[in-house]
Amino acid sequence: MKRREIFAGNWKMYTTLSEALELVKGIIDGLGNIGSREVIVFPPAVNAREVVKACGGKISVGLQNMYHEKEGAFTGEISPVMVKDAGARYILIGHSERRHVFKESDGMINKKVKAAYEYGLEPVLCVGELLEEREAGNSEIVVEAQLRAACEGISAEQMKKMVIAYEPVWAIGTGKVATPEIADSMHKSIRKVLAALYGNDIAAMVPILYGGSVKPDNIAGLFSPEDIDGVLVGGASLKAKSFLDIIHVKL
Ligand code: PEP
Repeated sequence: MKRREIFAGNWKMYTTLSEALELVKGIIDGLGNIGSREVIVFPPAVNAREVVKACGGKISVGLQNMYHEKEGAFTGEISPVMVKDAGARYILIGHSERRHVFKESDGMINKKVKAAYEYGLEPVLCVGELLEEREAGNSEIVVEAQLRAACEGISAEQMKKMVIAYEPVWAIGTGKVATPEIADSMHKSIRKVLAALYGNDIAAMVPILYGGSVKPDNIAGLFSPEDIDGVLVGGASLKAKSFLDIIHVKL
């Protein structure tokens, strides 16, 4: 079975409303025929509803973060219900900036994954090791632990709607990209963990994206190996031209 191919753009804390709408227009204008490829953008939450409208179903929309509770006295947070109500389909969970800058624990990430399914959102779950963990030879162990913790209590049926992004922390926003060999071997190890948890059929269905300094000039190598089903792009997704060059790789 052919897995979904996904090209996702994480806009982080960039773009005002007018910049976001201009970016969406640029992407849609240049998209052309991308076959069954799926494009997702993750704008800042405050502009979600307008971005969903501007995407007009041609591009999917997700948000970058949420709290796990439905509602309550949690000043500054947004709930899964609000994310859904804004028209988003996906929710990014466990991005390395959330894990390391905002100190989100594996337990919090698991609660968010559960909340995503409870309220009808599809999680894009990020996992990835720090530089010191890679240098110590512990990348697979770290990523397996993140994966097992995030998926605790998640059923095989729910996993069919999961997207995983392998994002080595040392490659995010640093210009240091993982080699296709490193990415492919980490993706294979992630798929092995999924197979151990949910069986081969489910493991074979889950798209695994690579993220970390993906650019137009390195996408061709990264999109070659059999276990890389797409990419999650930060910086290079903020310009329509560079994001389109990535989306159009080997079409
Ligand atoms: C990201 O934000 O998920 C990311 C991979 O960023 P960049 O492409 O800028 O490294």
